[in-house]
Amino acid sequence: MAPKDEKYHDMDETLILDSIHKWLERDVAPYAMDLEHSDTYPVEMVEQMKDMGLFGATVSQEWGGLGLSASTYSKVVTMISEVWMSLTGIFNSHLMMATAVEKFGTEEQKQRFLPRFVTGELRGGTGLTEPDAGTDLQGIRTKAVRDGDHYIINGTKTWITNSIEGSCFALLTKTDIKADPPRKGMSLFIVEKGAGFEISKRFEKLGYKGIDSGEMVFTDFRVPVDNLIGGEEGRGFYQTVGGLELGRINVASRSVGIAKRALDEAVRYSQERSTFGKPICQHQAIQLKLAEMATRYESSRLLLEQAANAYDEGRRCDLEAGMAKYSASEAAIENSLEAMRIHGGYGYSKEFIVERLYRDAPLMAIGEGTNEMQKIIIARQLIERNKI
Ligand SMILES: Cc1cc2nc3c(=O)[nH]c(=O)nc-3n(C[C@H](O)[C@H](O)[C@H](O)COP(=O)(O)OP(=O)(O)OC[C@H]3O[C@@H](n4cnc5c(N)ncnc54)[C@H](O)[C@@H]3O)c2cc1C
Repeated sequence: MAPKDEKYHDMDETLILDSIHKWLERDVAPYAMDLEHSDTYPVEMVEQMKDMGLFGATVSQEWGGLGLSASTYSKVVTMISEVWMSLTGIFNSHLMMATAVEKFGTEEQKQRFLPRFVTGELRGGTGLTEPDAGTDLQGIRTKAVRDGDHYIINGTKTWITNSIEGSCFALLTKTDIKADPPRKGMSLFIVEKGAGFEISKRFEKLGYKGIDSGEMVFTDFRVPVDNLIGGEEGRGFYQTVGGLELGRINVASRSVGIAKRALDEAVRYSQERSTFGKPICQHQAIQLKLAEMATRYESSRLLLEQAANAYDEGRRCDLEAGMAKYSASEAAIENSLEAMRIHGGYGYSKEFIVERLYRDAPLMAIGEGTNEMQKIIIARQLIERNKI
């Protein structure tokens, strides 16, 4: 993330949001529904996102990125998610990998990877989750064993976003399986596809369509020692956790986008649809729903703003990011369900966007740490910050 004085100023933020808005109206909204329902990767949109610099959105300008603050970035993500949330996964997981290199990589690694990450020439994501370990990251089994000037990697990573369309990943491994606690034996590598790195599965999902989620299998896969992020073993867990605050701000931003679109659709439809001689927005039962939806959206948006500001000011913000992610994802789930109910039978039709919002929203409660874990993080931080 760029230091404060390099950040986009208000004027720049207005310009970038304006150009994203135009792009969404012209190049995304008319096509998103078809691509989503046919689960087709949005090749052209990816090229357009490259041109707009989204693959380097949060990377410093020094490396050719846009150097957006978390605050501006979160507005970009929210805006795109109001139209098609899947698109944000294509560049966000990629940016998590880029952030790990920019924050923790050696100078040589930054020079080698960041210029190619920001253009989207090298695209990918983060490989943390395994078939037997998601929330409990210290339980992973993928092993990296040193062999001269290489490491040999064996293991399986599952549910990895961009694993099929992407070519480069930040991969969490164990370099010391006996370490106690296990996190001290974990190391993060940058790996590029090659011999011994295979995709064994493409997941069929409830929502989050158009974007690929797959399983990556490593069999005696050789990666140069120079690709160990930071050049020192045993730092991988901290490097991974160090990126989660921004990751949670991102999921909160996507959620706020879904919650807002659900609200907007409900407000519009409730004025168009009449029953018993008046628009349904004049029935008190519908008004109660709209009021609750609007309050959930606004309160989540404010929590998100607070978390993004804390991040930009360089303050520790696991409590704030956890609250924003938890609140906004629950708002997305509840608002999308309520929007569907307000649409009556039509809400169940694939012709209306509320059906998609309803399928996309639950993912927000899972990604970047489940909501159960967010509550545990929030509580722990509350106690730590208020010790007696
Ligand atoms: C569409 C999609 C895309 C994804 N993309 C990526 C990606 O790009 N990279 C990546 O690495 N991973 C990715 N994931 C994986 C995701 O991060 C994990 O699914 C998530 O971390 C949860 O892990 P799990 O599925 O193993 O669930 P588990 O860890 O098995 O959890 C199961 C349940 O138990 C609860 N639970 C677990 N531990 C505790 C506890 N201590 N206290 C209370 N409750 C607990 C959880 O909250 C959950 O409700 C993706 C997942 C999906 C669905």
